[in-house]
Amino acid sequence: MMPQHAPSPRVCRNCDGFATAAITTGTRHSDGTRATLRVACPTCKGTGHTTPTPAPALAQAGR
Ligand SMILES: [Zn+2]
Repeated sequence: MMPQHAPSPRVCRNCDGFATAAITTGTRHSDGTRATLRVACPTCKGTGHTTPTPAPALAQAGR
């Protein structure tokens, strides 16, 4: 049993980790396979993760 805490906070909230979505265009290639478009998530640029934003204001609030 592996109790799971909160899900990974670094997963892109826009695409929920599925950075590249294959969209079926409806057309087929001559060999019968479907032609799909791959669209990369603009938020994470296809990585599926968000870069944690550093907090410069808080980082320098030490003194
Ligand atoms: Zn994303």
